[in-house]
Amino acid sequence: MKAIRVHTPGGIEALSYEDIPDPSPAPNEVLVRTEAAGVNYIDTYQRTGRYPVEPPFTLGMEGAGVVVEVGSEVTALEAGDRVAHGTEIGSYAELQAVAADRLVRVPEALDTRTAAAVMLQGCTAHYLTTSSFPLRAGHTALVHAGAGGAGRLIIQMAKKAGAEVITTVGTPAKAEVAAAVGADHVINYTEEDFLPKVRELTDGTGVDVVYDGVGQATFDRGLDCLKPRGYMVLFGAASGPVPPMDPQVLNQKGSLFLARPSLGHHLITSEEFAWRTSSVLGWVADGSLELKIHGEYALADAAQAHTDLEGRATTGKLLLIP
Ligand code: NDP
Repeated sequence: MKAIRVHTPGGIEALSYEDIPDPSPAPNEVLVRTEAAGVNYIDTYQRTGRYPVEPPFTLGMEGAGVVVEVGSEVTALEAGDRVAHGTEIGSYAELQAVAADRLVRVPEALDTRTAAAVMLQGCTAHYLTTSSFPLRAGHTALVHAGAGGAGRLIIQMAKKAGAEVITTVGTPAKAEVAAAVGADHVINYTEEDFLPKVRELTDGTGVDVVYDGVGQATFDRGLDCLKPRGYMVLFGAASGPVPPMDPQVLNQKGSLFLARPSLGHHLITSEEFAWRTSSVLGWVADGSLELKIHGEYALADAAQAHTDLEGRATTGKLLLIP
């Protein structure tokens, strides 16, 4: 089969499109013919080695497709079922062996490309807004990079919960994208300092929570946007990792809370996995969660997809089609 492999971590030149043997499923696994693989920032961290993975490896944490074979212990799925996942590495490939309990059935109403587009960022937006800081009416949230794949979904789930949403974006076109999914206030942070604007929009009190997937460029000033006892939920590093910090800063800035969560720790039990995946896929199916596919790329063009994502050139989801 064809796959995108990494032998030596690095830039986009580390992405190698090559033939490797077809995988066969272990007893608890299912062999999936990938119809679409989602491109995520974590793929770039693994490609560069910022998140170390033992090489050589097949990239990709998200995908959807059709079951072609099941392992000897798998009873819940059979050949022909349409399935999706968002936590198992190896989706940049024509075939992937995935643990059966990490797969969800794709609802009738959805195609597999749509399911592949929402699993990882959708479940992330779900845990951020329900578990890292459970939003409700009366809360105000600051969401960075609101036109991005995760950002658009966080805004929509925050609005579903009844919160007021302030978001930052890098261009006027992205401001339109973020406003279209319901952000109450959009700040172009390449033209305007977001800190005084957030203070002004909250009458000087600050926000209850900052959801920050941008990292280095926004983290420090984000702390200053928070109310006393507010929550900084740092969930990514699109602009680079946040340097080590002194916990005393959290005291000085208002007894703040800092969380650095990841998706895998929010899909641990089968109940939690079913809750998040069925909520997210169900909302897409009933039209209450709107997806935006920025682009579909041939599997062989994974390097172009990474270039576009890292170059701040995208709004919404990027898919690779094997
Ligand atoms: P996005 O589509 O949001 O792309 C990243 C965006 O970050 C860019 O479009 C850009 O938006 C903004 N950005 C700001 N500064 C920079 C910079 N210097 N370089 C590149 N981008 C920059 O990506 P994703 O939705 O895939 O991911 C967003 C974040 O969420 C990532 O940090 C990712 O790691 C994190 N994430 C974390 C998960 C978790 O469980 N912890 C799971 C999923 C995602 P703009 O131009 O508007 O500033």
